[in-house]
Amino acid sequence: MAIRIITDSSADFDSAVARRRSIDVVPMSIQFGDASFLSGRTLSNEVFYKLLHEKKENPTTSQPTPEAFLRLFQQAREAGDQVVAVVLSGALSGTLQSAVIAKELCQYEPIYLVDSRSASAGIQILVNYACKLRRSGLVLSQPEVLRAMEHGALEEPRFLPLAVGRGGGITGGLATAEELGKLGRLVNGMLETIAGELRGGVIDADPCYVSESDNACTYCEFASACHFTEGEGGDRRKPLRPVKPEEFWGRIDMLIGGEGTPWASN
Ligand code: SF4
Repeated sequence: MAIRIITDSSADFDSAVARRRSIDVVPMSIQFGDASFLSGRTLSNEVFYKLLHEKKENPTTSQPTPEAFLRLFQQAREAGDQVVAVVLSGALSGTLQSAVIAKELCQYEPIYLVDSRSASAGIQILVNYACKLRRSGLVLSQPEVLRAMEHGALEEPRFLPLAVGRGGGITGGLATAEELGKLGRLVNGMLETIAGELRGGVIDADPCYVSESDNACTYCEFASACHFTEGEGGDRRKPLRPVKPEEFWGRIDMLIGGEGTPWASN
């Protein structure tokens, strides 16, 4: 279970930054006379200011529709993810109201709506804080550790990648200390392998890949220098596919059990 962070276009996030941080932005609509645009989608900031300069009348804005939020909420429900939506101040706009309606229509409890009581940079501060608090990946499955990380982790987790079933059972990104140890051994072994390859002059790249917007290169600070090109020379994407926990741990057992690899068990 992951945590999805949603905001609206009044937060003025640069689209590349929003994409890099996995923030979903629901667009507001902007009208210049008869022409209607979706902020950040069909109207960039550059064009907005150009029109502002050129047009005689001032633009007007409309709050996002409940459907715009609902689409994202439904995607989260289907994936079993939680949602934190930080939106434009309820005192300034009906955006929050649209999100409330969408939540009711979606009938999915793990959606947390936050009235930013602010706009633009004020929303960005809150969204950035939510990104900082968002956790994903594996956490140690010891109750005392989970509680120490988040008070309500065993009853109503909001920030850890966990879900609590009706019977109180916890599912999600949990691993035992032994499993984390195996994972650590595998990662160290892989790093040794990579270092050995680099020493030997092998510089082909095989970045992990889920989709165009979700792959290692999206977040990589070296992208402008790397020029990775799928299929060129030895450059190949490494597709990642979702696996069930049993398969995941089974493959790790197999890898660290293999003889002659740097990550093999002693
Ligand atoms: S941009 Fe280059 S260095 Fe960065 S993840 Fe992609 S392939 Fe690797």
